[in-house]
Amino acid sequence: MYCMHCGKKIDENLLICPHCGTAQNQVTKKDYGGIGWGILGYFVPMAGIILFFIWKNEKPKTAKALLIGAIIGFIVSTLIYVFSPSILKTLFAFFMKLNG
Ligand SMILES: [Zn+2]
Repeated sequence: MYCMHCGKKIDENLLICPHCGTAQNQVTKKDYGGIGWGILGYFVPMAGIILFFIWKNEKPKTAKALLIGAIIGFIVSTLIYVFSPSILKTLFAFFMKLNG
């Protein structure tokens, strides 16, 4: 982690920068957002939505990534559920054709 005031590298557990003395309470919260949280939301949409409501104020980037992942997860699983019978039928017909 880097000091929000002087930009020097400091231990992430420190509350005060040893170089310039600026309090680091704003940056000690880990709010990276990112694809990892999106993937978690995608695979476990329920957990993604619960964590979104827990973190939406404290960690907005992480919460947003989780919510986006959860929404994509819901859409994809709904599409698979709706279309899987016709996809299976198409595949079955295709393999029957291959076998003559
Ligand atoms: Zn500093």
